[in-house]
Amino acid sequence: MNKNDIAKVKELLSTPKSIVIVPHKNPDGDAMGSTLALHRYLVKKGHSATVIAPNEYPHFLKWMPGQEEVLVYNAFAKAAKEKIQDAQLIFTLDFNLLSRTGEMEPALTEASADFVMIDHHQAPGDYALVTYSDTTMSSTCEMVYHFLDMLDAKTDIDIDMATCMYTGIMTDTGSFRFPSTTQTTHTVIASLIEKGANNAQIHRAIYDTNSHSKLQLLGVALKNLEILPEYKTAYITLTQKELDDHKFQKGDTEGFVNYGLSLEGIVFAVIFIENRADRIIKMSLRSKGDFSVNEFARAHYEGGGHTNAAGGRSLLSMKKTVAQFIDTLATYKTVLNS
Ligand code: 5GP
Ligand code: MN
Repeated sequence: MNKNDIAKVKELLSTPKSIVIVPHKNPDGDAMGSTLALHRYLVKKGHSATVIAPNEYPHFLKWMPGQEEVLVYNAFAKAAKEKIQDAQLIFTLDFNLLSRTGEMEPALTEASADFVMIDHHQAPGDYALVTYSDTTMSSTCEMVYHFLDMLDAKTDIDIDMATCMYTGIMTDTGSFRFPSTTQTTHTVIASLIEKGANNAQIHRAIYDTNSHSKLQLLGVALKNLEILPEYKTAYITLTQKELDDHKFQKGDTEGFVNYGLSLEGIVFAVIFIENRADRIIKMSLRSKGDFSVNEFARAHYEGGGHTNAAGGRSLLSMKKTVAQFIDTLATYKTVLNS
């Protein structure tokens, strides 16, 4: 964000406004953390603000401060549409194309509000009046911290905002181990702890609330793990039946893909998860080093994300999806082995 953008945002926020704050579809810790932290700040400053999530978010985020006020679009579409229509300002956080909001996209496209984007994914769209896009950032939560700093609002950060931002930075950095974790990230984290974020409690709330059936589903996923040594690739499949047999809840498969990447010598890992209702196979892709799963997902699976973490989808059956995936890998053999 340049000086001009900062001045523009300050001007936009100088009088009380009706504001909507939007995370991406299937919101994760970073999407919820960033929207909730910003929401709390805007309400403190006298704005009327609402977080509208395109769809439900996982159980393991349902303790976050302020989450009980989130409006879920696909459950309360009428009320959400009215809020979007009436909004003077819309913040979009942790995504950069309106299509990432799924069914909510038409309502956002038709909105008359000015948009402000805060995001760290590659290839941002041009829908916003102010675009704060930085692909080197660990997380959108870290960006919200810098955003507040640029607005001279660091003193407004309270324990709840600090807790939300800490959560998103922790989840998007794989607990501070991905290469996107910088010295600045740790400085921000130190400041959030100073503001009251309880690191041990947050870690427990996110990672130590597994159900028995979820751990058994992890067992199935690990049994299904296949290795393709010639491509330094590992993949996991989970069918709808396997999910149903283990009382699948949203968020239960979060992180499963990382087990593939934990294998020695593996640089590319994928999980294929069948979603019968949407008639798709949802894919999560992860890599180590230079192999860009963002480009791979964009080229073959209508997806995208970051260099080392991306998502996508296939419209074929599970069997055909996997067969086609292995075929596709052949063209990447050199890159994967370099
Ligand atoms: P996950 O595999 O955890 O769903 O997503 C990994 C990363 O890729 C996240 O940063 C997420 O926002 C992004 N991502 C997931 N699915 C898609 C998609 O369909 N399109 C784009 N552009 N990004 C995605
Ligand atoms: Mn993120």
